Amino acid sequence: MPDIDPASKSMEAIVALCKRRGFVYPASEIYGGINGFWDYGPLGTALKNNIRDHWWKQTVECPPIGPDGEPVSIVGLDSSIIQNPKVWEASGHVGGFNDPMVDDTETKKRYRADHVWVRRAAGTDGKDVLVAIVLGSREEADAAWSHFDKTEKLPDQLRSELSKALKKFIDGAKFYEDMPLSYLDVSDEERVIVFGQHASKPGTLTEPREFNLMFETFVGAIRDASSKAYLRPETAQGIFLNYKNVVDTMRVKMPFGIAQVGKSFRNEVTPRNFIFRSREFEQMEMEWFCAPDDSPKWYDFWKHERMRWWESLGVSNSNLRFRDHDDDELAHYSKMCVDIEYKYPFTAPGFGELEGVAHRGCYDLTQHQTHSKQKLEYFDQERQVQGQKDGLSKDEINAQSKYIPNVIEPASGLTRGVLVLLTEAYTPDESRPSKVYMKFKPKFAPIKAGIFPLVNKDGMPQVAQKLYMGLREKFACQLDAKQSIGKRYARMDEAGTPYCFTIDGDTLADQTVTVRDRDSQAQERINIDQVEKFLAEKIGE
Ligand code: ATP
Repeated sequence: MPDIDPASKSMEAIVALCKRRGFVYPASEIYGGINGFWDYGPLGTALKNNIRDHWWKQTVECPPIGPDGEPVSIVGLDSSIIQNPKVWEASGHVGGFNDPMVDDTETKKRYRADHVWVRRAAGTDGKDVLVAIVLGSREEADAAWSHFDKTEKLPDQLRSELSKALKKFIDGAKFYEDMPLSYLDVSDEERVIVFGQHASKPGTLTEPREFNLMFETFVGAIRDASSKAYLRPETAQGIFLNYKNVVDTMRVKMPFGIAQVGKSFRNEVTPRNFIFRSREFEQMEMEWFCAPDDSPKWYDFWKHERMRWWESLGVSNSNLRFRDHDDDELAHYSKMCVDIEYKYPFTAPGFGELEGVAHRGCYDLTQHQTHSKQKLEYFDQERQVQGQKDGLSKDEINAQSKYIPNVIEPASGLTRGVLVLLTEAYTPDESRPSKVYMKFKPKFAPIKAGIFPLVNKDGMPQVAQKLYMGLREKFACQLDAKQSIGKRYARMDEAGTPYCFTIDGDTLADQTVTVRDRDSQAQERINIDQVEKFLAEKIGE
């Protein structure tokens, strides 16, 4: 079956299946839930762990071969979620890690200012003014603008408010095509008419305001400013904090990487789209340290390597794309940044971020060196020896062998990866009893095999039990003897189990079982002794 476009998949149906089959539940559900938090059920946890383990294996234990044909060296780390609060001042998160927000005074909704898009509109006298409307992604903006431009489709009251407002703003309007409001300077904002998405009149939005995304807590018995601490908003800073420890204790030499997987917390103002944007989530981040003049080569390498990795999970490459950041989007310290984006059902036909690969220059280590007053320079012995061989002067050798490393950072969302695999796998199929199956690549399926006695008599349960006892040590498998065989297949289809083995009357006579393939639903008979080998081959490394 060809890949199905995520645009045709329904998010509601995916969320419902996740609940029904134990992939993802709303957190605190019996108390009415809590916005932006999700619990991973038995199958969701298994799926998430499978992605995490694959990342760890391919990043830390068996990293790729680098651009020079040598295997790259990456070590693992597990740092604290709570760190000294000075860390977040140095990193720019306190005071800096703020999404400017706008409040809608009418609907009481709060929006990210970079989700308010500005476009030129014609005033009643034909002159241009700026009109802004609160929307989500750029693709959502495009869709809404095509509707918005046809003013006759606007409700009467809104249309008359709009033309009143436009009259006021006729002089001096500048042209900004699809420009987020947060990029305009204040004098420009004064000429912008803003609409809250569900507001009845324009002008109900406040100026963009800073809103700190970090969750605060207190360490120790006394709750005052001196004991204030933060839950980490990214795993990356824990890596920078331990860069010197790793250099001093692990005999690593430039270039090398430090990788970490773990929880991060952001008090997102508008958590939405299921687990896409939540307030507690998991990240898989790697900081690649290298000599500054080598950094463009490594940026290019990691950019393509990370795309290849997502494809290795079975994500169709037509649903993935690179999006290079424009210069005005880059953080001031960042030299280059590219997002790996996926076509989510709620962004389709557009794409949304899955991973960012950023060239962070020497910003982070320099910041920590300044704030902590600890030297974080690297002494590159190989470059010193090379410089001596090349007959360079002492100063020249010093200049090229002592440096603060540059950093290339591939930063991905583990929980966003779960959403991508759930979406990719979700395959409607009217012809089967479950009407849908989850087409995970077998390696990532939460359950690898179902083992069923056809009926609960004639010795079949005993044979099934024996087969299960042998397989369970190597594979996540389930023995299921309840209900009709059709219902058991349907359950496994929704769980995404790639193979089901059924013990029937013939098994007792000829030692064969049927194997049912999840995707084709085809059945074949194999010898019961061959089941383990069959599974090992199909699931692969
Ligand atoms: P966004 O622009 O979507 O807020 P970001 O650019 O701030 O994301 P980064 O700080 O680069 O994200 O984080 C790296 C990755 O962590 C993202 O690509 C995404 O996969 C994941 N991530 C970030 N914020 C969240 C969140 N609130 N919920 C789930 N995953 C997230």
